[in-house]
Amino acid sequence: MQEARIGSAVIQLVQGDITQQDTEAIVNAANRSLRGGGGVDGAIHRAGGPQILEECKKLGGCETGDAKTTSGGRLKAKYVIHAVGPIYRGGHHGEAELLASAYRRALEEAAAHHVTSIAFPSISTGAYGYPIEEASRIALKTLMDNIPRFPGIKLVRFVLFTRSDLEVYQAQLEKIVTGQQEKNQRGNKSSV
Ligand code: ADP
Repeated sequence: MQEARIGSAVIQLVQGDITQQDTEAIVNAANRSLRGGGGVDGAIHRAGGPQILEECKKLGGCETGDAKTTSGGRLKAKYVIHAVGPIYRGGHHGEAELLASAYRRALEEAAAHHVTSIAFPSISTGAYGYPIEEASRIALKTLMDNIPRFPGIKLVRFVLFTRSDLEVYQAQLEKIVTGQQEKNQRGNKSSV
C-alpha cells in the first residue's frame, strides 16, 4: 500500500532522499546535541548548508522524544524539524513511547509553523538500531492517530532510503488499514 487517507489528509510512502523533497517541512532524525551527525542528519546539513547548524546551536540541544524547528537553509523545504528518537537498547527502556513522542512532537512543531506538508525519514532505524518492523508500526500508528488533531496538515510523506525499508513500511500500512477496516465492520455490526 502506497498511501492512505486520514480525514482530509494523505499519508504517503515513497523511496528517495529526504533532502530533495518539496514538502514545506522535512524532519531530521537528529541527536540530542543538535550539532549534526551521520546518516540522514549529515545529509540534511550538507544539502541545507551551514545556516541550519548555526540555528541549531542556539536551541540548546533537544531531549529524546522531543523536536525543535529551524529554517531549511538552502533546502527546498522551508523548515527542518529536528526530532530525536531513542537509541534502541532491547525494547525495555521506554523506546516505544519515546519514538512515538518524537513523531508526535514533530507533527506539533509542523502545525505550530502552519505547515501543510511534511516529510519524515524512518527515525531511529539507522545508527540508533531500532528494528524497522516495530519502528514502522509505531511511526505509522502514531501519525495516523495524531493527524486528525491538526486539520491544516494535508500531506504526510515518509521518505524511505532503501527499497527494502519502503517495503516494510508498505506492508505495515496495509496491516494497519486492514485492521482498522475490520474493526469498523465489527463496530457497524454490533450497533445494528
Ligand atoms: P537514527 O540515528 O535516528 O537511526 P539515521 O540517520 O542513522 O538515524 O537513520 C535513519 C534512517 O534514515 C535510516 O533508515 C537511513 O537509511 C535513512 N536515511 C539515511 N539518509 C537518508 C536520506 N538522505 N533520506 C532519507 N532517509 C535517509
